[in-house]
Amino acid sequence: MTLLTNGQALPPTQWAHVFKTRGQTIELKQIPVGTPGPDEVLVQMEYSGVCHTDLHAWKGDFPPTPKPDLVGGHEGVGLVAAIGSQVHGLRIGDTVGIQWINRTCGVCEFCSTGNQPLCPKLQLSGYMVDGTFQQYCICKADNAVRIPPGISLEAAAPVLCAGITVYKALKESNVQPGQIIAIVGAGGGLGSLAVQYAKACGHKVLALSSGSAKGHMCLYDLGADYFVDYKSPNVAEEAKHVTGGGPHAAMIVSSVEEPFHRATQYIRPGGTIVAVGLPPGKISTDLFSMVTQKISIKGSYVGNRQETEEALAILIRAGFSVQYDVVDFAELPNIYDLMEKGQMQGRKVLKIGKTLSKSPEYLSTFSKDLHFRPRQNGIAGNVVSPELERAIERAGGDFRSDTVTVPTEPVMQAIINASSFEDDIYEGGDPAVNAFQDKIKAMTGKEAALFVLSGTQGNQICLRTHLHQPPHTILLDYRAHVQVWGTGGLPLFSQATVTGVEPKNGVHLTLDDIKDRIVEEGNFHFPPTRVVSLENTLSGSILPLKHAREISNYVRNVRVPPGRTRIAMHLDGARLLEATTAENVSVREYLDCFDSASICISKGCGAPMGSVIVGSREFIDRARWFRKMFGGATRQTGIMAAAASASLDYCLPLLPKVHALTRRVAEYLHRIGYEFLLPVETNMIVLNLKKTGIDGESLVRYCTKYGLRTFPSGRLAFHHQISEDGVSRLQRALLELITDVKRV
Ligand SMILES: *Cc1c(COP(=O)(O)O)cnc(C)c1O
Ligand SMILES: [Zn+2]
Ligand SMILES: [Zn+2]
Repeated sequence: MTLLTNGQALPPTQWAHVFKTRGQTIELKQIPVGTPGPDEVLVQMEYSGVCHTDLHAWKGDFPPTPKPDLVGGHEGVGLVAAIGSQVHGLRIGDTVGIQWINRTCGVCEFCSTGNQPLCPKLQLSGYMVDGTFQQYCICKADNAVRIPPGISLEAAAPVLCAGITVYKALKESNVQPGQIIAIVGAGGGLGSLAVQYAKACGHKVLALSSGSAKGHMCLYDLGADYFVDYKSPNVAEEAKHVTGGGPHAAMIVSSVEEPFHRATQYIRPGGTIVAVGLPPGKISTDLFSMVTQKISIKGSYVGNRQETEEALAILIRAGFSVQYDVVDFAELPNIYDLMEKGQMQGRKVLKIGKTLSKSPEYLSTFSKDLHFRPRQNGIAGNVVSPELERAIERAGGDFRSDTVTVPTEPVMQAIINASSFEDDIYEGGDPAVNAFQDKIKAMTGKEAALFVLSGTQGNQICLRTHLHQPPHTILLDYRAHVQVWGTGGLPLFSQATVTGVEPKNGVHLTLDDIKDRIVEEGNFHFPPTRVVSLENTLSGSILPLKHAREISNYVRNVRVPPGRTRIAMHLDGARLLEATTAENVSVREYLDCFDSASICISKGCGAPMGSVIVGSREFIDRARWFRKMFGGATRQTGIMAAAASASLDYCLPLLPKVHALTRRVAEYLHRIGYEFLLPVETNMIVLNLKKTGIDGESLVRYCTKYGLRTFPSGRLAFHHQISEDGVSRLQRALLELITDVKRV
């Protein structure tokens, strides 16, 4: 037998966390390194996850009695350090995982049908045999999980228990691709993995959890299709309603019994309810409906090695995330302390390694009793204040505009990490601002970009930069923001006249609308058109690329007298990214039609403030001058640019989901009798209140009753922080409103 790692002899002793007195102490001590038997491997542990089962193992909460002087742990990964004489297919240095199932007989009825967890000779890691909370752990070679490339060892560790548990339960549920599975407790650690596995396997997911923050996470971060708040009074009704007759299966990732009973009320006839993990307690259920509705309730335990390898492969292929914190090996007692107090947040993974990062003297101080020592978490734990959490909650029901979003945790973190605190007005500017402007340049394909304070300022600067000496006219949509909502800025800053054009199709301008409205030079009664200013989106409706292109081609070819520059094309692209996302066209192609554009980062892109203007280098150089003149040049702007950049990264991928949510609500509102003034194409619904006989004041009043914020105009704006709870309250409010109006 080989007992060498990379040519070096194995050490005789190693550090291990030993459960001395059950449920009382964990002693970190030196114990001998074991010798693998003929069919076993010795694994030098790199990482081990810690889960609640480890807490029960320590206390000896469930049968059979654990091994005395036990070393716990059952989700570890490391390198094969020694192999037994009869082991085939593993070599020294291979990366393997040790899971709950450490040893099975390999020949019994269960072992030979893939049901290894039921083997009567089953030995459990960190329970019946020493587990992964040591530097060198032994496992039967056949049960060692082969860790494929494509996942880090630290990320693989939690998959060996949490990942396989939910993946196996998914298989046990018999849910078919395209069918719906409810995940109860979807907001938690196991639950969020379950949602991601279900999605990766092609199922639709009804997530059940409580609170709008969890709802948001389930829908937007994890990709669940439906969400029902577990605290709502009619959980079963809602679950049935949103899934059109109930989910085909339910996975209960919860350690209380009530959800099992509840699931029998909403599961689709013929469906399966699966219990996951090791829930204590008993369930009582109505046998009559179980029989007549053909409902199965079953338990699911961990999977075998093959299934764990499948679970790893799926995770790698689908690229979804496992949340965990890596902590030092010595921290184990602190983790137990937190688990006992029910204060553990997320999953912890111990960093072990061949040489421990802390000295034995340091380690030995932990061997006596358990006491919680707060971990130095950097600043991360503090970036989200209770005020910000409340603000996020509020934004969940705020339909006034997409400007009402508040910074997310990654954005707050970016402000701290990515700001460079230089004076942006002085030579060279601020690095974070420059980086943001470069990012926008790359996205838009324009030569230069300039951060400005607001969309209003961006448009005014651009138009002023295009226009030199009156008399001159700007041609625009008669509803254009720069004119209608621009507080009279155009005549003040640019001394410009406007031509407001009404689109014949009632939605957006076309070439046909503007062709004969361009004022050519020659008749000095009429100030000539020098800029055509378009807007996309306009109240959420798209000005399609095709039409922007036709207009641009025409306008750019309008003949002007010698020495004059041609008519400029400007875009008020406050919500350009909503439009290009929904129309699925490239931002660059769209902006090829324009000489300048102003894009808001503080709307659907989620930044606390700021817009950006783009154009040629020459144009932006001149615009910089006006920005200073209009009081828009600022000092430590990096803070805001870092926020803008991180918000953009965070929000841009969410826009399709926001649009889908908007469409879903629009479909609902249409069904109950509402009509719209504009097509619902992006993130806005503009209600035709007049046509439904509703006045704006009642709209606000009914919404206020449900804790929602709306404007009386009837425009409902959606954004990435709108919560599922906010949506269901909105639907209830508007249903009540239209029912009352029709009754009168
Ligand atoms: C919001 C908006 C603006 C103005 O942006 P602010 O940042 O609010 O000044 C300009 N144009 C359009 C189309 C807008 O929606
Ligand atoms: Zn067996
Ligand atoms: Zn576990």
